This record gives sequence, C-alpha cells and structure tokens, in this order.
Amino acid sequence: MDIHLYNTATRRKELFAPLDPENVRMYVCGPTVYDRAHLGNARPVLVFDILYRLLKTQYPRVTYVRNFTDVDDKINARAAESGRSIGEITAETSQWFLDDMGAIGALEPDHMPRATAYIAEMVEMIAGLIEGGFAYAREGHVLFRVREYARYGALSGRSVDDMIAGARVEVAPYKEDPMDFVLWKPSDDQTPGWDSPWGRGRPGWHIECSAMAKALLGDRFDIHGGGNDLMFPHHENEIAQSCCANGTEQMATVWMHNEMLQVEGKKMSKSLGNFFTVRDLLEQGVPGEVIRFVMLSTHYRKPMDWTEKKRAEAEATLRKWYGQVEGADAGQVPQAVMQALADDLNTPQAIGEMHQLAQNSDASALLASLRLVGLVADGVPAWAAATDADLSAYEAAFSTVRAEAMATKDFSKLDAMKQMLVAAGVEVKMRKDGVDLVAGPAFDPSKLEDL
Ligand SMILES: [Zn+2]
Repeated sequence: MDIHLYNTATRRKELFAPLDPENVRMYVCGPTVYDRAHLGNARPVLVFDILYRLLKTQYPRVTYVRNFTDVDDKINARAAESGRSIGEITAETSQWFLDDMGAIGALEPDHMPRATAYIAEMVEMIAGLIEGGFAYAREGHVLFRVREYARYGALSGRSVDDMIAGARVEVAPYKEDPMDFVLWKPSDDQTPGWDSPWGRGRPGWHIECSAMAKALLGDRFDIHGGGNDLMFPHHENEIAQSCCANGTEQMATVWMHNEMLQVEGKKMSKSLGNFFTVRDLLEQGVPGEVIRFVMLSTHYRKPMDWTEKKRAEAEATLRKWYGQVEGADAGQVPQAVMQALADDLNTPQAIGEMHQLAQNSDASALLASLRLVGLVADGVPAWAAATDADLSAYEAAFSTVRAEAMATKDFSKLDAMKQMLVAAGVEVKMRKDGVDLVAGPAFDPSKLEDL
C-alpha cells in the first residue's frame, strides 16, 4: 500500500519512499524534562505514534528515535529554585512523561536517548563544523556561521535577512553575525558542564538533536517530525548543522510538523487559566483513550481544539464501540481505514470509517481498527467494559417494551422507562427497528437498578 505524507520541505504531499525499505528511520524531537507534559505536548507524541504504527504495518523494521533533552537552562533554573538536583528532576520528569504518554496509548520509541549521554558525539560534531569553516569559537562559545549555509531558511521558507528583521535575535559581542547560533556555551561552577576543546561548557539545544540523530539513525534518514513551533529556528538549525557536518544535501527526506493545540478556541496559557497537563485530565477521570480519540479527531495539520463537548462525545462513542467489540475476535483492518491513514495520516477520516463499521455492527473489523489506532491494547478498557455490557440488556428490554407499546397503544410504561434512562445519563436514540442506548459522560449505573 502506498503511503503519502505531506513534506514541509517541499510543501507537497508525496509518495513515501524510504532510503532503505528494510529499515525505515524516523526521528522526533522529544521533551525538555523539567515539568509535567501539558496537553499540547501530547499532540506530536500521538501524531507520530500513529505514523509509527502505520509504518510498522508496511515495513519489516521501523527505527523510531525520540530524545529527552536533559540539559537545558530551564532545567538548571528549576533545580536552583527547588533546591533539588538536576539528575533527580530529569529522572523523575522523564518517567512522568513515559507514564502519561503510556496512559494515552503511545508506544515507546525504539530509542529514547538522553542528551547528556551523547556529549562526546556533540563535541565531535562541533569540532568538525569548526574544521569545515562552518563554526567558530569565541570566548568559550562556539557559534554556527549561518551565512555559510546557503540553504538556511529553506524549510520554513524564509530568507536570512527576513529572519533578522522579524526575529528577536540575541546580539552578543562574541557573534560575527546576529543570526549565528550557539553550538556550545561556557558553564560556571553552578551549571552542569563537560570538558571540551573550548573549555568547560554545555551544548546548545539544536546540536543535541543533530548528534543523537546521527548516532542512532545515520547521516541521512527518512522522517523528521515535531510541532510546527519547532520549524524555526530549531529544525532549520538542525538541518544546517547536520548537512554541513555530514556533507549531505539533506538530513531527513520528509519533514513533518503538527499544528498546535487550543482549549475552547483559545491558546492554552497559564495567564488565561486554561493550562492543564495530561496528568490533570487523567486525575479528573478522563480516560487516556478519550484524550487520544479527541486528538485523533482532528487532522494533524489543522489546529486542534480541545473542548468539553468533544471530550463528552468521544467518551460516549468509545463506550458504545467498546460495548460492541467486547468479546469479538479482531479481523482485518478494512482497506478504507488503512487508506485514510496512508493519506497523510487522515485520522478524522479513519474515525469516520470506524463509525461506519459500528453502524454496520462489524465488530471484528472495528476491533482491528481500534487496535491499529491504539484505542485498544490488550482488551477493552475497564472503565468502559462493565457499563456497556449492561446497556445492551437494557436495549433489548426497551425494544420489547416498545413493541408492546406499539401493539397496545399504551406508551406510559415506555415513557417511564425512557425518563429513567435519561435521568441515569443515558442517551436514547430511537431506530426504526430498535433503540441505541449510549452512556453519556454523566452516566450513573446505580440509577438503572430499578429498571
Ligand atoms: Zn530536535
């Protein structure tokens, strides 16, 4: 099956053709570990998780690398203000990240390198850049000479001069040009540092990804992903460093960027009071599958709006689907679902196809599809399993009462039953030949005991 992906670098949807079909290689920029992941951080994780799962159905081997940035000034600041050690903070936060992403069904990548374990590779790459004339050392800093790389700005489609005009570039005395960016910087005694030819210091953020990608995937690989907030300057800088250090035309063949997340139509921010983490939602009782479903309902290249309404609808849909597939054997994933995903990860289309499968009561195809998109792992999740098994019995009872009512023209019993279901938080959807009962977010099974 052909997979088409939108490539930021060419601004086109292209047929995906891996460099080595025996081993597809993908790198995704990972978190800087000093705090809980907010909901927006979960979006690239889920987007590239879907891509990883799709690629694994088509290729014998997929090598997926997602780093942990565990050396960063934000981490140093967190350590200073909390009085805790950097190692303690990064170890704890990395584990939080894995726990929270696991709770929303994300598979772990094949490699999850920590930047601090690749300092030697970074130093080597920086030394090579200096040797090639692409970088220079000044006052304990090493800077990348942006004007030496003619293709700088090609990914985000800007010229260096436009970038200088529009960006808040740091003008520092040790820079030859305001656009030059840091590869290495000096550390004082309070800051983590490593010995290098340029004195004790630490790497800049951008070189971390270039060095880890090279170490684990080689000079060139297939897919590089991240949020579109990383396109400039982070990804431009990664490309410049890697292509100049490795002597390659390209770093990755395909560059993929997901759009950002909003909450109820507004940018999520601490000042607006609509800022929350994945863990906050999980602790409020929002199941991980519901978070995942809501995220997948929007195409990754569109802004995703998290709303209470979508959360409630996702929960109701999943309860219904989980009820349908419970006990079923997974069959084949239908072509229509596969093709939707293969068309630049069109997850909303895939979900549309799954609605169709549910409508047709094709439990085995629905289960296979739920598994493919990571909404079912081992079995139907516990939060959905019990209640739906109950509702199918109520559906049968309701249909019987309805048939009686139609025959006798006495609807009082039917109306009373309907009222009781609605009071218990169940949505009653009449069909020509029966009824669909869907547990809403406020569903309370105890209120059905008298039925
Ligand atoms: Zn990166």
